[in-house]
Amino acid sequence: MKSIVILGSTGSIGSNTLDIVDRFPEEFAVAGLTAGSNDEKLEEQIRKYRPRMAALSTPAAADKLRRRCAGLGVEILGGQEGVAEVARASKADLVISAIVGAAGLVPTLAAIKSGKTIALANKEPMVMAGKLMQDEARQRGIAILPVDSEHSAVFQSLVGHRRQDVKRIILTASGGPLWEFPAAQLRDVTPERALQHPNWKMGAKITIDSATLMNKGLEVIEARWLFDVPEQRIEVLIHRESIIHSLVEYDDRSVMAQLGLPDMRTPISYAMRYPERMPLNLPSLDLAEIGRLTFFKPDHDRFPCLKLGYEALGIGGTMPATMNAANEIAVDAFLHQGIRFVDIPDIIRSTMDAHRPVEIDSLEAALEADRSARVKAESLVHALAR
Ligand code: NAD
Ligand code: MG
Repeated sequence: MKSIVILGSTGSIGSNTLDIVDRFPEEFAVAGLTAGSNDEKLEEQIRKYRPRMAALSTPAAADKLRRRCAGLGVEILGGQEGVAEVARASKADLVISAIVGAAGLVPTLAAIKSGKTIALANKEPMVMAGKLMQDEARQRGIAILPVDSEHSAVFQSLVGHRRQDVKRIILTASGGPLWEFPAAQLRDVTPERALQHPNWKMGAKITIDSATLMNKGLEVIEARWLFDVPEQRIEVLIHRESIIHSLVEYDDRSVMAQLGLPDMRTPISYAMRYPERMPLNLPSLDLAEIGRLTFFKPDHDRFPCLKLGYEALGIGGTMPATMNAANEIAVDAFLHQGIRFVDIPDIIRSTMDAHRPVEIDSLEAALEADRSARVKAESLVHALAR
């Protein structure tokens, strides 16, 4: 049996992971579950999967959960430190890293340092401190397996090939919910509209990232660290149907790609049983029915966030962590504080412009960049929201 911990078990990736566990109950035992504040959903999961440890990052929610789960024999921790403690202390072979945002950095790094294999969905920590995470993983000889569909596709397209033969990685992007919108219309787009993704059902933050194309900016940086490929060799292609999940071109101009219907259970299960595949009883890809696949170049005028990702990666050091933090603040403000969709790239741009990058030689350096970028971005939001 493989013992697993899920960081972010109540979210979209977390729920899809537990769906895989349900399909293969003899293969996986759940050792730990963590979430942010959803005590009701986590309680349901605790009663069903009976992990040894669980945590909620919101202390008051953790207290509530602890009272309601008394007598179940589950150790329930609270706060960000409690979440990291579950990642560190639980006995697990595999940690599914599926918290959203920078909040996943400390627990994911704790899991790496305690020698556990990582199935990585939570891309923001890789953006903030990719080199640090890979160095720590390499030192301990543990693998960070991609869950993000594009990176899983690249990973699968690399099997059986030599890394030095890779010419380019081509990450596909759906274009998101607003790809057809003319620039003038983007100014007035509502959060409700921006949350309607044509192909994927995901958490709110990544859905807005998909609408701005920042998700692809984050994924270019994620790919740089997962596959150790410089940014000049990572390209982005808009592919509206989300059938080709990404491609790798080799020196002889042969191109390998991974295809499938958009369903995160495929890449999640690949990471969970790597290198073997799970027989998932899901609908098969029917290309004749789909008929045609379409491709476009990214539009940097309407969607400037992708370029910000390349720029942050090129500058390096603390700049990607700064960009990521500003994006988290801006997306949250778009969803909850009434700033406009088109303010998101402006806030990120201004936060990056104000930042003097330094090297990331420690976790603390990444966290400090994250903290100060949040302060700067919040002040920009405050000025706009007035
Ligand atoms: P989600 O919002 O549905 O779930 C996030 C999870 O993290 C929840 O369990 C939530 O309780 C927990 N959480 C939130 N804030 C927290 C905090 N401060 N401390 C601890 N836990 C916290 O998000 P999602 O769509 O499942 O995405 C999770 C990650 O996976 C993101 O980084 C996203 O970019 C990445 N990802 C998601 C998908 C997808 O299909 N949903 C695909 C590729 C990559
Ligand atoms: Mg993706």
